[in-house]
Amino acid sequence: MKIAVVGSGYVGLVLGACLAENGNDVTCIDKDAAKVRSLRRGVMPIYEPGLEEMVRRNRAEERLEFTTDLPRAVRAASIVFIAVGTPQHEDGSADLSHVLGVARDIAKAMNGYKVIVDKSTVPVGTAARVRELIQRETTHAFSVVSNPEFLKQGAAVEDFLKPDRVVIGVEDDRAREMMIELYAPFTRTGAPIMVMDLVSAELCKYAANAILATRISFMNEVANVCEAFGADVDQVRKAIGADRRIGPSFLFPGIGFGGSCFPKDIKALIKFSGDKGYDFQTLKAVERVNEAQKVRFVAKMEAHFGSLKNRTIAVWGLSFKPRTDDMREAPAIPLINRLLRARAKVQAFDPQAKPVAKRLFGNKITLADKSYSALKGADALVIATEWSEFREPDFGRMRKLMKTPVIFDGRNIYSPDQMKAQGFTYYSVGR
Ligand code: NAD
Repeated sequence: MKIAVVGSGYVGLVLGACLAENGNDVTCIDKDAAKVRSLRRGVMPIYEPGLEEMVRRNRAEERLEFTTDLPRAVRAASIVFIAVGTPQHEDGSADLSHVLGVARDIAKAMNGYKVIVDKSTVPVGTAARVRELIQRETTHAFSVVSNPEFLKQGAAVEDFLKPDRVVIGVEDDRAREMMIELYAPFTRTGAPIMVMDLVSAELCKYAANAILATRISFMNEVANVCEAFGADVDQVRKAIGADRRIGPSFLFPGIGFGGSCFPKDIKALIKFSGDKGYDFQTLKAVERVNEAQKVRFVAKMEAHFGSLKNRTIAVWGLSFKPRTDDMREAPAIPLINRLLRARAKVQAFDPQAKPVAKRLFGNKITLADKSYSALKGADALVIATEWSEFREPDFGRMRKLMKTPVIFDGRNIYSPDQMKAQGFTYYSVGR
């Protein structure tokens, strides 16, 4: 099939590459000309495992191309995906200006029947707005589809190729058949394609992110109660996770969730529910707990040192989760800002996010090229992201490099017994 994907970010680029991998003819569009130029040179604007090779392979096979020319790509395509950003407005609502702007551009370029697919995470009711808008601009027939994306950054290619399920919101059979055909190769392993109405499909994405964030905030609170009683959250987590009704995933406490999706999607769900007169109380608590968890972690450091002034703090991990360079809403950002406000000196390392961190913090922090060089002369190390390379370090070397052997582990990647044996003063979450 001939596909156009508008927006070549984390979602659009992965979507475009994976659809091309299955033999479709894909054009990815972005308004950012520099991004398009770099993609044409084979340089990825983001880090995502497996993506670069897949893009290179499909470009070589001439199944994947990049352009800023939206009208040309739309004219050639039968299915057009909208995968642009939906950042958050001050009041928490989703900013739909990119999505609606692109819908208008698509409508103006149409030369025949198109399936226009909302891939961006958009509030319930957006597909209907997109339909009305396009109807005003064109006389050509078209269908609007909602196809929320559930990929996880850090495993995006894998998730897209082998999804747990594909959700498709449709209004007519023509679009339904085309979408099922498009996704058939990705669901050969038995993953279901769930076809439903537009508003239900739109809500699926928000409900999925909301329940995941709720589990995180819930476990952070369980961890805090564990600390109050001297209980071990790992034991509690494993025991409750063994219950099949609960399951073991997403039960890890830490320093709060971040990323480009959970915080903004929760705010948007609270906002659009509120617009319909519904007060989403659980999610308001989830947000409050998440903010408090970040502050709580720094308070542990303050309690240990008395004052953080002139302390040198090493930070391992800056991205909001491992295997991505994305620092949007990463818990490391407020953490570092608090350390800087307390006049601490920060020496940070991240395997992929250094360029992003450089843009965010400039010269306010030192960005090390290697994990161990961040430790030189440090009064303490903070683990902010659980990259696998931090899991089995040379503790002897760490002790030698650090001024004092103190670790604040915001991701519980070491065991308290192991740390004690290694001679570290060790703080973690809920243990
Ligand atoms: P992103 O910021 O990485 O990418 C968006 C891209 O769209 C950018 O490259 C931007 O230049 C481009 N763009 C914006 N306006 C444009 C226009 N008018 N024409 C052409 N290109 C335009 O965003 P993302 O992380 O890929 O997220 C996209 C959407 O998918 C959001 O709604 C997000 O909530 C949702 N989503 C994201 C994830 C994720 O893990 N990142 C997962 C599922 C869903």
